[in-house]
Amino acid sequence: MAIQLYDSLERRLKPITPSQPDGVIRFYNCGPTVYAPAHIGNFRTFVVNDVIRRLLELEFGPDKVKHVRNLTDVDDKTIRRAREESRPLADVTQQWTVKFHADCAALNCLPPHVEPTATGYIREQVDMIDVLMRKGNAYRAADGSVYFKVSSFEDYGRLSRVKERELQVGSALAGKVTAADADEKEDVSDFALWKAHKPDDGANAWDSPWGRGRPGWHIECSAMSKALLGETIDLHTGGVDLLFPHHENEIAQSQCCNGTTFARHWYHSEHLLVDGKKMSKSLGNLYTLDDLVAKGFSPMALRYALLMGHPRKQLNFMLDSLHAAESAMTTLHSFWQSIPDNVGRADDCDSVFAALHDDLNTPGALGALFTIVKRGPTNISKTAFEKALYALGLKPTAPHTPKVEIPAAITALAEKRWAAKQAKDFAAADALRQELAAAGWSMLDSKTDYKLEPLKK
Ligand code: AMP
Ligand code: ZN
Repeated sequence: MAIQLYDSLERRLKPITPSQPDGVIRFYNCGPTVYAPAHIGNFRTFVVNDVIRRLLELEFGPDKVKHVRNLTDVDDKTIRRAREESRPLADVTQQWTVKFHADCAALNCLPPHVEPTATGYIREQVDMIDVLMRKGNAYRAADGSVYFKVSSFEDYGRLSRVKERELQVGSALAGKVTAADADEKEDVSDFALWKAHKPDDGANAWDSPWGRGRPGWHIECSAMSKALLGETIDLHTGGVDLLFPHHENEIAQSQCCNGTTFARHWYHSEHLLVDGKKMSKSLGNLYTLDDLVAKGFSPMALRYALLMGHPRKQLNFMLDSLHAAESAMTTLHSFWQSIPDNVGRADDCDSVFAALHDDLNTPGALGALFTIVKRGPTNISKTAFEKALYALGLKPTAPHTPKVEIPAAITALAEKRWAAKQAKDFAAADALRQELAAAGWSMLDSKTDYKLEPLKK
């Protein structure tokens, strides 16, 4: 069965197909803004996209997929962070790019084939804006910024149905406009292609036919996908929050510039909620991968937990689901180890792929995997099981033993107790053992050494 994914534009399930004679699937996935660690919500989106990438490669062949995912390394947020930290912008974005890559690797996400940066494609963005100016789809405002004229593109709002919504609930477009960008535009729904330099931008400005400034956010994806994948791409993805205005604007820019279909298939994955709420710093429910590793969970358990919900439904994340995911990974590992190398009549894990090919039903695929586990290791071929795990990106690793950080004060107490014991001052050694226990630690002594372990709660 072909890989079917819901297309947000046509609002129906559609098979993913190549459009060019070379048979290569051109796949563009909007990437992160690199100014802070990505949170586990971002990683839900990237893990889901990684499963898409793996499925495409398994279906069409590893050299028949070109996966591009960008890094947004210049925008209001990155510039603000650099200013707050009094560091050059490139320093900040480099730091968070390195961290993003490390987290992706820990979560077993394949690196995209190309990972362009917005600052690396300024010329391409300027060229595209230039075409839009010449075609009358853009105008330069009094402050030197260039805006896309939304009224010049008849199809604007087709992806997000923003026009329908506007008719129903008044001016939805106006509601999306902030005071900061409302001033110089001819129409509230117009959006910036080029932002004239402001003092807060510091050194982060480039020359253009319209004066010094920097690109607006949306144009980077239009320019980079064109440069790397061509004018028409086969699959464009991102989290659901990008549907409007980001993807709507990408379509407008690209189609007005190139005069052809921008993306043949749009797939949006839903958000991760934590304890039923939107993740935010102020609610104290925003987790990074490091936060969860510090709590003793493995990155593979997080990957599993992120796949437990259907990607097109909101997923309510709870720490408890990580416990379940950790034990599921342990089960998968010992099952995998117990599969004999040569099996007569083997299950080829078709049920796992049937679920994944049917609109990326990851919970269905995990369920199918456990049905196979229940049938026992002698009914499955090891290669087939490994292929199913590979598609989901789940590495059957040994049971996870959390790395525990021992606080310096605890090590100091333990050293003191060890010294007391060596000096045969058993009363002092016992008192110190109790002190350690009160702090939640136990000391396991051998003849020559000791080991510290957290007490089980
Ligand atoms: P950003 O770095 O903010 O540009 O986001 C990177 C990706 O993460 C985008 O595709 C977003 O749609 C996605 N994203 C942001 N928040 C969440 C969330 N809570 N759950 C799932 N995906 C998210
Ligand atoms: Zn984008």
